[in-house]
Amino acid sequence: MGHMTFRGGVFPHRRKRFTRDGELEEYLPKGDLVYPLLQHIGGMAVPVTEVGERVLEGQMIAKASGDISAPVHASVSGIVRAIEPRKTVSGKQIPCIVVENDGEYEQYPATEMKPWKEQEPGEKIRRIRDAGIVGMGGAGFPTHVKLSVRNPKKIRYVIVNGTECEPYMTSDYRRMVEEPEHLAEGLEIVLSLFERAVGIIALEDNKRDAVTALQLAVLHEPRIEVRVFETKYPQGSERMLIYSVTGKEIDSTQLPEEAGCIVLNVETVCAVRQAFLEGRPVTRRAITVTGKALKSPKNLLVRLGTSFAELPEAAGGFAREPKKFVCGGPMRGVALPDLDVPVIKTSAGLLCMSRDYLFKPTACIRCGACMEVCPIRLLPVRLAELAAADKEEEFRRLHGMECLGCGSCSYVCPARRALAPTIQGMRKKLLAQGKR
Ligand code: SF4
Ligand code: SF4
Repeated sequence: MGHMTFRGGVFPHRRKRFTRDGELEEYLPKGDLVYPLLQHIGGMAVPVTEVGERVLEGQMIAKASGDISAPVHASVSGIVRAIEPRKTVSGKQIPCIVVENDGEYEQYPATEMKPWKEQEPGEKIRRIRDAGIVGMGGAGFPTHVKLSVRNPKKIRYVIVNGTECEPYMTSDYRRMVEEPEHLAEGLEIVLSLFERAVGIIALEDNKRDAVTALQLAVLHEPRIEVRVFETKYPQGSERMLIYSVTGKEIDSTQLPEEAGCIVLNVETVCAVRQAFLEGRPVTRRAITVTGKALKSPKNLLVRLGTSFAELPEAAGGFAREPKKFVCGGPMRGVALPDLDVPVIKTSAGLLCMSRDYLFKPTACIRCGACMEVCPIRLLPVRLAELAAADKEEEFRRLHGMECLGCGSCSYVCPARRALAPTIQGMRKKLLAQGKR
């Protein structure tokens, strides 16, 4: 197997053994389902249901509010109990639709449509929009917008990000091992929008079972190739992946299409298949529920809107007192103050840690390790100093806006300095002011 890669990066403990052999299990929610109207980048969805109405599984309950937006669908049948602000993974209160599950899982009729091979590109884009598909790897960018490029003929690669480089996370891996043909079918549908593109399913070389399963699944798909890369973090970062596949570098101001690429997550491509071949929108997703605090870590198929608070019990309960919860993996995940928040389209995992690593930073010893691992070749130590001193101009001059937020610099720092959060804090502040 050939290995291509980018410069820099780190090799954190993978910790995937907890769940890598655990088949995806369906989890049925116990409590109310809470659907934030903003589970994506763009405009907030607008409710099309009322308090007291009975809704069915797969029924649209909020419509997209504009071109860059996505609808929301009920994931169970039940009664709408409230439309009100609730706390979400980001910690913010966001308007949500609350549905009391009636336990019947009565399905809304599947969308009838022409076979996808007979559909025009515009029809396919509308179908992807109406199914509520967004980037389910964490970005949440509406997929119909991502696929609506100015010149589809310029797209040469549709890359499926199967690297899953975050430690602990294995839900993409299970999808690829258990449903490789679904991924191939979804990719074939996306490729039909880009006549000059090839499909690349990109994996790291620690996922040999998935590589074998996918190679078999694409045996008769001349436009799809399975490509294997070195197991290294952050291999799954969009810019690193584009570089590994094409040798082209893009900066933070450029779109992947400028390098002739579209990059999609495994879960997203499976959702595309489901929208066209089953006529069903996004109502569930695969999630890794893991960590040393749990008795029996698992990969679960969870209905959107399910409370995170239900998931530890589904994974056998706590083996020891949890000290920290993270939505996603340890490198780029979001720390949760508590679990009383709903699973949304971008929630890839729940990490229940038995220790909270609170390190006291010490003075920089000028070892240079942070610079060596930065995949963008930035000067993390200097950027963090500038961010701490609020020196905007110099921060931007030293390309601080290019930081991926991958956390590699913080990971290697022997002085335990919080480099990535400090740099990202400044970057987000400048972006909010419209500065780049
Ligand atoms: S400076 Fe940014 S891109 Fe570079 S290693 Fe740190 S977090 Fe990653
Ligand atoms: S890795 Fe830490 S100690 Fe080493 S130069 Fe960077 S900030 Fe300083």
